[in-house]
Amino acid sequence: MNVAVVGAGYVGLITAAGLAEIGHRVICVDDDTRKVEVLISGRLPLYEPILEDLVKRNRQAKRLEFVSRIEDAVEKCPVIFICVGTPSLEDGETDLSSVEGVARKIAECARGYHLVVEKSTVPVQTGRRLQKYFKSRLQCEVASNPEFLSEGSGVEDFFHPDRIVVGVDSEKAAGLLKEIYQPVIQQSFACPVHASCGKRAEAPFIVTDVNSAELIKHASNSFLAMKISFINMIADLCEAVGADVEKVAEAVGMDKRIGDRFLKPGVGFGGSCFPKDLQAFVRIGRKAGCDFGLLREVEKINHQRIDLFVKKIKRELGEVSGKRIGVWGLAFKPGTDDVRTSPSLAVIRELVAEGALIRAYDPEAIEKARAELPGIEYGRDAYAVAENAEALLALTEWEDFQHLDLAKVRQVMARPLVIDGRNMFSPARMAEHGFEYVGIGRGVTGHLPVPGPKNA
Ligand code: NAD
Repeated sequence: MNVAVVGAGYVGLITAAGLAEIGHRVICVDDDTRKVEVLISGRLPLYEPILEDLVKRNRQAKRLEFVSRIEDAVEKCPVIFICVGTPSLEDGETDLSSVEGVARKIAECARGYHLVVEKSTVPVQTGRRLQKYFKSRLQCEVASNPEFLSEGSGVEDFFHPDRIVVGVDSEKAAGLLKEIYQPVIQQSFACPVHASCGKRAEAPFIVTDVNSAELIKHASNSFLAMKISFINMIADLCEAVGADVEKVAEAVGMDKRIGDRFLKPGVGFGGSCFPKDLQAFVRIGRKAGCDFGLLREVEKINHQRIDLFVKKIKRELGEVSGKRIGVWGLAFKPGTDDVRTSPSLAVIRELVAEGALIRAYDPEAIEKARAELPGIEYGRDAYAVAENAEALLALTEWEDFQHLDLAKVRQVMARPLVIDGRNMFSPARMAEHGFEYVGIGRGVTGHLPVPGPKNA
């Protein structure tokens, strides 16, 4: 099928390349002409594992092209996915200007039937709101198909989703979306992610009304954010009373009703989705007359993370002014170069404001971080930022950091202090290498002897 994808960001590019890979002919539109030039030149404007190969292969196969004028896509494509940004307005509500701008333009150039699919995360009832642009284009329909991919595993998430949700007003719209996703639903494609991907169970295809589909996305992200804030609250208690949050999280997460994912204590959640989606959902609840106090607490706990972490640094270092501090990790999570609302950048800003001398490193995110934080130093690798540092902060849990030569790191530091905002190192291993180590919620420094068979 001919399919248009509007927006060539993290979601749009993955969607466009994924749909092309499963056989559709995709026109991906972005009004940022520089971004389109970069894509046409064969490079990517962002980092996402596997995506570069996928884009390259599908462009060569002539299934994927990039354009900057939406008109060029609409006339050829009956189905159009909107994947543009939906950032927060100052009051925390969702800025729908890009989504509405795209809908208006589609309506202007639509001829005949078009299914306009919101993939961007939007407040419930946005679909209804968009209908007004199509009043004089009665053949057109608006549907919702929220995106659940996670940066860093976005391509994998496209091909092996936990579920595909579509919110529609007609059987025709449901049928078209099912046809588009059929290879993913049936898992009948040659998997570009796993070399030997065995036959997997079908991906659930959930059809709802448009409002419910829109709401499913905000409810899912809010639930995940709630799990993170919950375990961070427990981490605070562990520090106060002398317990190990990693053990607590492990055992709590073994309960199948709870699950272990997103029970990871740390400096809190960031990125372009959770903070803004949570903010938006709280306001959606309020407007509808529902008390979303639970989610306001989730936000509050998350906001406190940065302050608590900076206090922890000051407790260890005293004054930070004039002190050299190394930072491992700038991206809001591993596997991406995205630094939007990254907790690492928030911590760095606080420390810089107090006069600390920061040198930071990230395997992928330096370029994007430099645009946000031009005034700090960036190291060429993880060892370079450790040199002469009085403390190292571990703020993004990249796999690469797990494989560093810790003896070498210790040797070049002025003081071997590691403050781990992601609990990515084991306290025992750090102690073996002679580090002073501080994690999150690790109030227990020693271990009780495990009873042997005699006294068991
Ligand atoms: P992004 O900022 O990376 O990409 C958005 C793209 O849209 C940009 O390239 C921008 O130039 C383009 N754009 C904006 N207005 C346009 C217009 N009028 N015409 C054409 N292109 C236009 O954003 P993203 O991270 O891909 O997120 C997109 C949406 O998907 C958001 O609503 C977000 O909440 C949601 N979402 C994001 C993720 C994620 O992990 N990033 C996951 C699920 C859902």
